[in-house]
Amino acid sequence: MNTELSAVSDKRMDITCSACGHKFSYKVDDLVLATSDDTTTHEVRQRAVCRGCGVRGNNIYVIT
Ligand SMILES: [Zn+2]
Repeated sequence: MNTELSAVSDKRMDITCSACGHKFSYKVDDLVLATSDDTTTHEVRQRAVCRGCGVRGNNIYVIT
């Protein structure tokens, strides 16, 4: 899935770290503020750093 944040700005992005299983989530609205509305969920996934183990980009995500 490769969705622009602007298309799902009323939703949340729930991310699960593949390395340690830590779960975290963002309001897509907040991601738009931190990036831009043409950033894609895939780009956010690649940039996301796990707060549990510090691994970057090794995760799965769902838009809910
Ligand atoms: Zn982790």
